[in-house]
Amino acid sequence: MATVKVGINGYGTIGKRVADAVRKQKDMEVVGIVKAHPNYETRMAVQKGFAVYAPAENVDLFKEAGIEPAGTVDDLIKEVDIMVDCTPGNVGQYYKDKYQAAGVKAIFEGGEEHSLTGVSFNSTANYQESWGVQFSRVVSCNTTALLRTLGPLDKAFRIESAYVTIIRRAADPGDSKTGPVNGLEPSVRLPTHHGPDVQSVMPWLNITTMAVKVSTTLMHVQTVVAKLGRDATTEEVLAVLRAAPRVRLVKAADGIKSTNQIMEMARDLGRDRSDMYEIVVWEEGVKVVGDTLYYYQAVHQESDVIPENVDCIRAMCKMADGPASVAQTNQALGIDH
Ligand code: NAD
Repeated sequence: MATVKVGINGYGTIGKRVADAVRKQKDMEVVGIVKAHPNYETRMAVQKGFAVYAPAENVDLFKEAGIEPAGTVDDLIKEVDIMVDCTPGNVGQYYKDKYQAAGVKAIFEGGEEHSLTGVSFNSTANYQESWGVQFSRVVSCNTTALLRTLGPLDKAFRIESAYVTIIRRAADPGDSKTGPVNGLEPSVRLPTHHGPDVQSVMPWLNITTMAVKVSTTLMHVQTVVAKLGRDATTEEVLAVLRAAPRVRLVKAADGIKSTNQIMEMARDLGRDRSDMYEIVVWEEGVKVVGDTLYYYQAVHQESDVIPENVDCIRAMCKMADGPASVAQTNQALGIDH
């Protein structure tokens, strides 16, 4: 079977990871990446052997910086089956018009609204909804995390309601564009958009969210309180979470007490960029009292959506069913289950 030709528009935190992850799959190839401006990341892309394309208006900037672009964004769009659009939030509509005109499929990221595509994606909760579609959206890092655990828990226990507090990292490690650098900043527009975002994939889920931004860059932490459809035991819940795809249980008793120790574990795993694709749940932090479940989970915001992007390509290009794609992606990225 011919490999699917993939282009990546926007080569930042998410785009560069998607490019490397796609490159590791046997059934797809990266035709090129689009970088808006020539900088160190552009030079790294060239060094890695990616064909670098530029917005038409910036081609001269690239040449002045000593980088010869392989072409413009419009050239790349003509050469691919599917674009993964990893540009910053709210840029999507501009490019969607171009993809539409060229008849090319495209995936957008969580910074865009669900209304841009009308379909949002998670590998296990609703893979089939993106089957063959022209446009889909891989939901944000926080939403992906909630779907990874609430999806299987809802199947097992039917969740009546979920209350989530998201303790959000202020910026990605490589960014210096936002704060707070010494404070805790609550999101005062309540409930936050994360609940409706989960509902773009699981519309029936009764979920409400709040969020506080804190001065850390490594990960988010989410606290979840869920009312289950029946009384359950902590062991039953742990068994569901242990079997859930891309969820990793860790123990505080083993010395993994905080997000920095999770990142140390990710470094020890030897993955690209020390990424932790799985959502990490503290085993001792899972507790059921009657029909009420409490747990904490940590989210590596830079990488948890990467396997989902690969699976979304397979769904949209009708390459494999959901479980087969998840298994294939996991194997290529070194994820256990
Ligand atoms: P980023 O700022 O790290 O990267 C964006 C890239 O797009 C940069 O290389 C930038 O130069 C380029 N760019 C900017 N304007 C452009 C334009 N007009 N045309 C082409 N390229 C342009 O952003 P990111 O963190 O990778 O986020 C990308 C998307 O992924 C957003 O929708 C974001 O909400 C979502 N997302 C981000 C994270 C995260 O934690 N960083 C997690 C999940 C999803």
